[in-house]
Amino acid sequence: MRLAGLDYQRREVVVRDGPEPSLGGADEVLFRVQESGICGSDRELAAFRHGYPPPGEDFLILGHEALGQVIAVGSAVSGLACGDWVVPMVRRPCHPACDPCARGRRDLCSSGRYTETGIFGRHGYLREYASDAASDLVRVPAGLASCAVLMEPLSVVEKAIETALRIHQPGARTALVLGAGPIGILAALVLSLRGLEASVYSLEPPDHPRARLAERAGVRYHDRLDGIRADIVIEATGSPAAAFAGFGALASLGVYCILGSPNSTGEVPFTELMRHNQTVFGSVNAGPEAFAAAVRDLARLDRDILGGMIQRSSLAAVRQTVTTSPSAAVKIVHVVAE
Ligand code: BGC
Repeated sequence: MRLAGLDYQRREVVVRDGPEPSLGGADEVLFRVQESGICGSDRELAAFRHGYPPPGEDFLILGHEALGQVIAVGSAVSGLACGDWVVPMVRRPCHPACDPCARGRRDLCSSGRYTETGIFGRHGYLREYASDAASDLVRVPAGLASCAVLMEPLSVVEKAIETALRIHQPGARTALVLGAGPIGILAALVLSLRGLEASVYSLEPPDHPRARLAERAGVRYHDRLDGIRADIVIEATGSPAAAFAGFGALASLGVYCILGSPNSTGEVPFTELMRHNQTVFGSVNAGPEAFAAAVRDLARLDRDILGGMIQRSSLAAVRQTVTTSPSAAVKIVHVVAE
């Protein structure tokens, strides 16, 4: 089968042939990968700044945002059948399981010994076929298949927003998202769905396709931060400068979620955080409940807007996508099953 990944010896992104997986244990599901989306993590992986291959291997199949269709199920599998659409969860729990992993919250793994498909020590889904334990797969209604490749990033957003809304006292009314990439746009859409007045700040000019997409979705777009204050601020830029600037946009009692920025030195306004009873938290990955929320919200979000986020490309073009800066399209998706 064709696959795309990282060759750690040659330090190159390659598209090549590899062996097909077969159905393993009785609890496993074999599926044909339909498509897989690319995000900032994949670009970091392709620059060899992030992630690592499975133990004893010098190759990592990329792709952690995937949609597949079941072609075989093990004898112990219930709840999934041939023809069903599935989205794999990215993280796999640690062994022996830490407390959060033992109670099903692999996204909160406290040992740090988890693996992640296509990122940390486990092959991803930029390949024609894959097999996983049924418990690692989320079933997607067939009617959502056209946009379900967005399910994984949406699950990350769901977890972050659920946490922010839970923390905010007495209840948030306004939200500002920093960044107009896939996580930023999805966050603004979900915040609007929750009834908040949501806006997006990013560097692109207001006539940029991403800015226009946000406005089309009813989300206000700003290319300057001056004077903006919000109850919830979500950083989804990957830029420390934007992350530091975000503190200034936090209203009294505000809750600030860091989703994308790497470490950097700069000023954290401790005094304002105390005086205004503000909260800052980080969030990563998503648990089963966040995936369930993503399935529900995908059905409620405007299909034209979701479709407008996606630009599809071939598996052969993966190298180009992961080695160049993000394009005007919000999400590049590589179609595997052509
Ligand atoms: C993925 C998450 C993952 C994180 C850290 C993100 O790109 O969407 O599922 O946990 O990277 O590896």
